[in-house]
Amino acid sequence: MRIDEALTWAVALLEGGESPSVDAKVLLANTLNVNQTYLFTWPDKVLDSQSLHRFQKAVERRRLGEPVAYIIGERDFWTLKLATSPHTLIPRPDTEVLVEQVLKRIPSDITRQTQSSFSICDLGSGTGAIALALASELPHVHVTGVDFKAQAVELAKQNAVNNGIKNVTFLHSDWFTELGDKQFNIIVSNPPYIEDTSDYLSQGDVKFEPKSALTSGEDGLRDIRHIISVSQEYLLSDGLLAFEHGFNQGAAVAELLGEAGFIDVETIKDYGGNDRVTLGRCG
Ligand code: GLN
Repeated sequence: MRIDEALTWAVALLEGGESPSVDAKVLLANTLNVNQTYLFTWPDKVLDSQSLHRFQKAVERRRLGEPVAYIIGERDFWTLKLATSPHTLIPRPDTEVLVEQVLKRIPSDITRQTQSSFSICDLGSGTGAIALALASELPHVHVTGVDFKAQAVELAKQNAVNNGIKNVTFLHSDWFTELGDKQFNIIVSNPPYIEDTSDYLSQGDVKFEPKSALTSGEDGLRDIRHIISVSQEYLLSDGLLAFEHGFNQGAAVAELLGEAGFIDVETIKDYGGNDRVTLGRCG
């Protein structure tokens, strides 16, 4: 079977899915270990039987609903290529808004020297996406990522190595429990924030992702509340706390931050125009 024929076959099989054409191209490029341009440049190249077999297996997994990122084991985030696993959430483009907003608030007068004493903590680091994106942009800042799942910590460490990022440490910790007396200039988190009984959990790719990374009590705010209530012990004076949250949680998170004494509280929208990130400073 030729490359163009393999793509046509896969698109037909994946029809009814969320993105048949994109998925077919990503899966075939991954199977052949080439970039997508190659597929258009060499449409008449014939797949060897081993590649065809692997492609057919990958397309079948996708047909059964499995997320592409779990099938190919990776996802691009920011400027990084991150290994993924079913132990953690698949990095989302919306989370890049959180990274951008934190970067915007790094003091502009920070010098190489002061940067080296500047520290950031990412709570619930999963694949390491946020911690690694920030560490890659701020090479003299130290970033600590924590996750309560040992497998996620291992994955994030691997992603740091794969991307050549050294100014980051990943710890196995249930939110703050293993942070000791550390204090940070910035705490950032994309915690679970979906309501326990939300229909969203049984849809599309999300149903393959770990519930522990998605749900947070009846109103989805249990973990955000916990983090807000403890974070001030771990923030340096004037420290920043920044969350990703659900599209309908901006006002609630802003209110929780205000009640806890945070100032300069702001909510920022994602690329889809939904409230997605709320930040506040230690008062
Ligand atoms: N943003 C994710 C989603 O919409 C949810 C991730 C989370 O709970 N942090 O699927």
